[in-house]
Amino acid sequence: MAQNIRFEHPDKYTILVIDDEKRIREVTYTMLTKEGFEVAIAETGEIGMKMIDERHYDIVLLDLMMPGISGLDVLSHLKSHHPYSVVVVITGYATLEHSIEAMKKGAFDFIPKPFSPQDLRVVIIKAIEFIRTLHDIANEKSRMGVLINQLSGGVMATDSQKRVALANPAFLKMIDYFEEDAIGRLVGDVLRNKKIEGMIDEALSMHEEKFADLTDEIDFGDNILSIRCIPFRDRLGRNLGTITVVNDITALKKMEQLKSDFVSMVAHEVRSPLNSIGMQLKVILDGLAGDVTEKQKEILSRASEKIKALNNLSTELLDLARIESGLIMQEKEKLDIDKLLRDQTNFFQEAARTKGIRLELDNLPELPPVLANLGNMEEVLSNLISNAINYTPDNGRIVISARVEKKYLCITVRDTGFGIPAEDIERIFERFYRVKNEKTRHIIGTGLGLPIVKSIVEAHNGKIKVESELGKGSTFFIYLPLVL
Ligand code: ADP
Repeated sequence: MAQNIRFEHPDKYTILVIDDEKRIREVTYTMLTKEGFEVAIAETGEIGMKMIDERHYDIVLLDLMMPGISGLDVLSHLKSHHPYSVVVVITGYATLEHSIEAMKKGAFDFIPKPFSPQDLRVVIIKAIEFIRTLHDIANEKSRMGVLINQLSGGVMATDSQKRVALANPAFLKMIDYFEEDAIGRLVGDVLRNKKIEGMIDEALSMHEEKFADLTDEIDFGDNILSIRCIPFRDRLGRNLGTITVVNDITALKKMEQLKSDFVSMVAHEVRSPLNSIGMQLKVILDGLAGDVTEKQKEILSRASEKIKALNNLSTELLDLARIESGLIMQEKEKLDIDKLLRDQTNFFQEAARTKGIRLELDNLPELPPVLANLGNMEEVLSNLISNAINYTPDNGRIVISARVEKKYLCITVRDTGFGIPAEDIERIFERFYRVKNEKTRHIIGTGLGLPIVKSIVEAHNGKIKVESELGKGSTFFIYLPLVL
């Protein structure tokens, strides 16, 4: 078979034959040059060694038994000085021990004398495949190296002993590390940050069946860094080390803060004149400024409605800004969920009744308390219930319920309303996003209710989910962690 295989690009490979036996040198030289390889020959170990030092040979065919410097000596020299040359030893007496010893010292393969051109071909094909793999790995490694070094994000890899195996310049800059080489040092000595080290510990001890991205944001000097840490594993799932990716998000955070401050400022500034306009309209509407005709009343009422909507918008913008700047987390208490749900259901009875909607509280099981902020939770429920009322046609039904699910308390608000189209469902938690269709077009809203709900729930380490069927209704699920 091997006889039929043509070597691909043999001219790309250089081969050196070191053998004191003239016949072997000649046979190999003739055969390999005929194939297109560039071949050089040396008749002693001394000459061979000199040639090796002068230029690179991809493959060295090396006789083990030579007078003077032995093949094994040449092999040792090659391995320590020219590790990228692939060595095939030629064993004169076909003694297995010699070949084994040579392999132990780093020879790639051996070929016993006497050998046929066919034997030689097989061994050269294998050596070339090996060289190609070596090249591929080296290319890949250098490509990766360039890539990682050029990344603007910081990347660091550690081994399982928490020693730094790789750290790109961006990483070292972000953690203010200007000393000599960080490679090989313990993470603790290089980082001087307990939080990142803690994440690395956690990643290293992560169970093989679990794969989580550990993320955090840390204050580092004047900067805010976002950190992601993951373990990397071998094929058996054992943790071999960790990779940490760091991004400087200081500018992003500042922008967010500016935006939030700006929105708060505008909302705040708009609110008092709006209130004042609203009040003056009411004075006129109530007839305190003189008689008002029915027509005027109608126009003023509509204006007053719009003022209310604007007022609502500014309140919600303020709420959102407050929530996003982390101001809501202050006072948490053990909340009696049963009471909260009862109060909220009662509060909205009137609004539901005007639309002929049945608003009911389910039979609740005994519920454990959750640690939460009362005002925030009232806001969550009032948003969900008022949405349910708004987006349910007359004579519908809304059911509020709660139960324990694993380590969470799950509150649900279910309605028999319009439902939410599948293409919108992912987006209704985005700021200002409103579903626009025939059914909802006339309903006034800001598109800020659900983002507020989501922010509050997440600030309580909870989750929100929605299921909906168009024309049938929607159910919103709020999961709050239980006090354990
Ligand atoms: P708003 O109600 O002020 O428009 P929200 O953020 O509370 O803003 O809701 C966003 C959108 O999600 C709404 O405009 C509506 O289209 C949709 N939505 C919310 N709740 C429901 C619900 N219970 N049934 C149907 N659609 C809903």
